[in-house]
Amino acid sequence: VEEPIHEAVLGHAASRGDAPALIDGVNGMTLTYAQLDTFHRRVAAALAELGVRKGDVLALHSPNTVAFPTAFYAATRAGASVTTVHPLATAEEFAKQLRDCAARWIVTVSPLLETARAAAELAGGIREILVCDQAEGHRSLLDMLGSTTPEPQVDIDPVTDVAALPYSSGTTGTPKGVMLTHRNIATNLAQLTPTMPMGPGDRILAVLPFFHIYGLTALMNAPLRQGATVVVLPRFDLDTFLAAIEKHRISGLYVAPPIVLALAKHPAVEGYDLSSLKYVISAAAPLDAGLAEACSRRLGLPPVGQAYGMTELSPGTHVVPLEETNPPPGSVGKLIAGTEMRIVSLDDPGKDLGAGERGEIVIRGPQVMKGYLGRPVETAAMIDDDGWLSTGDVGHVDANGWLYVVDRVKELIKYKGFQVAPAELEALLLTHPGIADAAVIGVYDIDNNERPHAYVVRQPTAPDVTGDDVMEYVAERVSPYKKVRHITFLDAVPRAASGKILRRELRELRGRA
Ligand code: ATP
Ligand code: MG
Repeated sequence: VEEPIHEAVLGHAASRGDAPALIDGVNGMTLTYAQLDTFHRRVAAALAELGVRKGDVLALHSPNTVAFPTAFYAATRAGASVTTVHPLATAEEFAKQLRDCAARWIVTVSPLLETARAAAELAGGIREILVCDQAEGHRSLLDMLGSTTPEPQVDIDPVTDVAALPYSSGTTGTPKGVMLTHRNIATNLAQLTPTMPMGPGDRILAVLPFFHIYGLTALMNAPLRQGATVVVLPRFDLDTFLAAIEKHRISGLYVAPPIVLALAKHPAVEGYDLSSLKYVISAAAPLDAGLAEACSRRLGLPPVGQAYGMTELSPGTHVVPLEETNPPPGSVGKLIAGTEMRIVSLDDPGKDLGAGERGEIVIRGPQVMKGYLGRPVETAAMIDDDGWLSTGDVGHVDANGWLYVVDRVKELIKYKGFQVAPAELEALLLTHPGIADAAVIGVYDIDNNERPHAYVVRQPTAPDVTGDDVMEYVAERVSPYKKVRHITFLDAVPRAASGKILRRELRELRGRA
């Protein structure tokens, strides 16, 4: 797709008139498609008048709000590259990102203004901090809605110009700036939408953050491109989330495994009418087949589908198509159109593996990122000269093309020549009725062998579960080499905003113990 992302998503918006594009899930404020179309154009014009130029990096620092898409598409229309910022980032983390991408503009919201100011101060180089709402002494996007300046005519090259500059989640190391061109995102959107049809009348609940590429794609670009209505929640809170599904008659959920877990197991779910739901899709982290089954059974829905991707892939490569009534349990989906995949040997990266064999997932397609910003060495280590991107994930494909993701290559626990996937043990632990959540890492014992160490959160209803109970439960169900050898009880498993387990935090915790 050779079209800027704002055109690809909003090209049809004006013609939808008063149809609701976005609804605030808390206060009910609605933005129509016609407003979204006009507003983002006016803000783009005002940004250009202010001095935003093609190639400038604009940091969008906001939780999910009705205004977020207006700010995003206005910035790209003005020619800027948008770097999305975690709304809970500290001033130091935010400043690091601003410096790394040499950002010139910040768009934030008044409750986060103090952090934004401190970050701008630390980073330097920021020309102005704007707000989406209102704050003394700062230009507001609201005031720009009245702009009468003609729209900027920016010459965007979709193939080379960077539309979005999200930072990878930093699950495994330092977050890196991922350069996604207009073509990367618009093409991936076109590849994904046939597998995730939504239209007028469909209501999608945006509870995962827009700042992460999964939310940006599944909860913002995809529904807005197809004329659906996005109901926006600023953060995840189980009761607010369930109440919003009931109140707004939500039809589709794109979530991450912790929310599937809550839907499957949490007692609060019984208190709400969730009968409007037609499907639940999970992505961003491994989802156990048993858990998916428990969730769909409890809600009376078709099987919970999955999707697979990563920031560096704009983000998608595999989806369980919505129309698939009987997908194989545990699969993250089938390869989408226009994308190639190989599974290569972990021991001998030159060797391609066949159906059923576990190896690293390697991808080629129009959604492969332009590169990591300012990191040519890391970019070259990940993308080879023929355009194949090594995902760092281990998986296997069955004879019908269904992909299964095992875990990250780096997370595999090597025990006496065997490989144990933490995700497999976590899934098993979650089947224990007394366990609310679990995470597993490999730790080196005194004999220099790596063994699984489980971090477990007890169900409130099962305060007496012991470490021995848990180890015995696992030992009865796995081969001896996979046995969990150490248990630590926690109040909560550390997770990123996208639901991923932050295993490095568990390692730090262990280091301190
Ligand atoms: P960083 O690269 O900075 O360490 P990250 O890899 O967590 O962070 P993302 O781009 O948000 O950053 O996540 C992509 C990763 O999420 C994939 O490489 C994969 O490990 C995991 N993932 C995504 N979807 C799935 C899925 N359906 N099942 C299992 N894992 C998934
Ligand atoms: Mg990654």
